[in-house]
Amino acid sequence: MQEHPLLVFDFDGVIVDGMAEYWWSSWHAAKSLNAEPSGLFPAQVPELFRRLRPWIHHGWEMVLLAAELSDLNEEAWVEGYEVQQRAALLRRGWRDDLLQGALDRARLQAVQQDRAAWLQLHRPFPGLARRLRSLGDEGLDWAVLTTKSEAFTAELLNAFDLEPARLDGREAGPKSEVLLRLQRERPLRGFVEDRRATLETVLSTEGLQGLPCYLVDWGYLKPADRKQLPPGIRLIDLDRLAKPLAQWP
Ligand SMILES: [Mg+2]
Repeated sequence: MQEHPLLVFDFDGVIVDGMAEYWWSSWHAAKSLNAEPSGLFPAQVPELFRRLRPWIHHGWEMVLLAAELSDLNEEAWVEGYEVQQRAALLRRGWRDDLLQGALDRARLQAVQQDRAAWLQLHRPFPGLARRLRSLGDEGLDWAVLTTKSEAFTAELLNAFDLEPARLDGREAGPKSEVLLRLQRERPLRGFVEDRRATLETVLSTEGLQGLPCYLVDWGYLKPADRKQLPPGIRLIDLDRLAKPLAQWP
């Protein structure tokens, strides 16, 4: 039994802005499936991809989005994301594991060919690395809980010289289940995430209702995400994050 309480952080959109890499890898993954979007190139993130990124939960969804991007109806996707997604999968005869495999291979190839260039497609949000390192001064450990694979997340954390007390990737299962497991091992002080739906799921999970949930306002948020937050979800900005945990909202 560890003694220090734990503060748990999502990775993409909370610690690191990887937009350039999401697009780059998704484009290459789509190409490997003979579905690269026409007229779009890996080095230039399309605004539409950027705008729809907040709807994405798992990595494979980015590959589908990239493949569909050239002739996609934004309004229809925003209003019925899952319906559009299912229709696109069906039309292409694709499954999520095929797309996830393509994404993982694209990333692996990028890391093997030019690790430094791949790393440079990622940027930690301003002040995040320093803030994470300072949590120890408050008697806190911090952990990463992400839907990205553990190996790629570890690679990035290592590059930014960040060492969480614990790292759980997509292999560990749904975030609510992982949080329940962590909570059995030591006290949890909060969960910091940029996907509102994930926080809502966490708060509706038996045993996690009392967990302080923070929605980061610098992450990949949908336009409506900041509005009318349910009790239990607090919006936090970079200024507040820099303050001691006792002064968080
Ligand atoms: Mg995120």
